[in-house]
Amino acid sequence: MSDRKVVLEALQQELQERLSRYHAHQHREAGSLEKDFAEQAVQRQNDDVVDGLEAEAKQELRQVQRALERLAEGEGDVCENCGEEINPARLKVLPFSTRCVRCAGQSLN
Ligand SMILES: [Zn+2]
Repeated sequence: MSDRKVVLEALQQELQERLSRYHAHQHREAGSLEKDFAEQAVQRQNDDVVDGLEAEAKQELRQVQRALERLAEGEGDVCENCGEEINPARLKVLPFSTRCVRCAGQSLN
């Protein structure tokens, strides 16, 4: 049980670090304005990719924090949707799960 908390906290930290790197990327120095058009186009494309990654990481972080909250409330093993116990094997593979396999359906969450 406490193992899962350790895993989740490590995951949380990793995601926060990743987000601050994305943030730094999006707010880099103004020198980028002097680049030629082709380079700017590539850069905008990269920005879109980073935007996508950032959104993904943010969502993942929310999920991890939610799992940590439920863990703190003593409900970490219980599906937030139906109240059934979540399969321990599932929690091992997906420590941030807050739903049982049945309620999560095809989604990983
Ligand atoms: Zn359920």
